[in-house]
Amino acid sequence: MLVSAEEMLIKARDGHYGVPQFNINNLEWTKAILNACEEMKSPVILGVSMGAGKYMTGFKTVSAMVKAMVDSLGITVPVCLHLDHGTYDGAKACIEAGFSSIMFDGSSLPIDENIAKTTELVSIAKEKGISVEAEVGAIGGEEDGVVGMGECADPDQCAKIASLGVTMLAAGIGNIHGVYPENWPGLRFDVLEAVRAKTGNIPLVLHGGSGIPDDQVRKAISMGVAKVNVNTELQLSFAKATREYIEAGKDKIGKGYDPRKLLLPGYNAMIETCKDRIRCFGSDGKA
Ligand SMILES: [Zn+2]
Repeated sequence: MLVSAEEMLIKARDGHYGVPQFNINNLEWTKAILNACEEMKSPVILGVSMGAGKYMTGFKTVSAMVKAMVDSLGITVPVCLHLDHGTYDGAKACIEAGFSSIMFDGSSLPIDENIAKTTELVSIAKEKGISVEAEVGAIGGEEDGVVGMGECADPDQCAKIASLGVTMLAAGIGNIHGVYPENWPGLRFDVLEAVRAKTGNIPLVLHGGSGIPDDQVRKAISMGVAKVNVNTELQLSFAKATREYIEAGKDKIGKGYDPRKLLLPGYNAMIETCKDRIRCFGSDGKA
């Protein structure tokens, strides 16, 4: 059974740890994340981007696969299936497909339009017990074509969006999606503090959690961040382990080309990465 993110995030906020959101791309990702979180007794949010949903042939497929896998693996920790950076139509499609949580990313829209669409989606989702993440201001990243400093949210806009009844709020505090550039100056704790002061105690979300130094992640968690998104880190550890397997010529030995063998080193590497992040965020034993 899938659960909304609400209860796990309130517990995390009050207990000063972070719930990991690990993004999934396929069956191996899902299986590795679920098994790692079960072993660590950590609650988990499975993030699905619009692109990953399309890649997996649609949100209905994702929802059916995740529900069945939670059941067949005998997973006992709370599992939330969450749309990551959803469009308005994508959010509606995920509600329809059986997701237990959605993010509507209206950060690129004028604030009034972001407020209007977020409000509408909150009312649809609330009725079904589905949690909602909203975003204020763009979080920087390589898709912007400019790297270096991540963008920061306006605390007053954060207050407006937080008041709409959303479950959690993503606000840029200098964080970036993808690999962090050499010249990245670090998280803006002054902005986090200002956002915190204006938004009451709504659980905050730290996007672009791959590659932020652990001490900065832990400090952000201590200041109100209750969910940390991890995507790139799993992709990198999967790719590294797979490359080593191929470069060692192991796919040419026996039936090493069998996908169940070929994908195993990457799968195992993802489990280790998940466990490492869970320890950093302090969510182990919190399920
Ligand atoms: Zn993000």
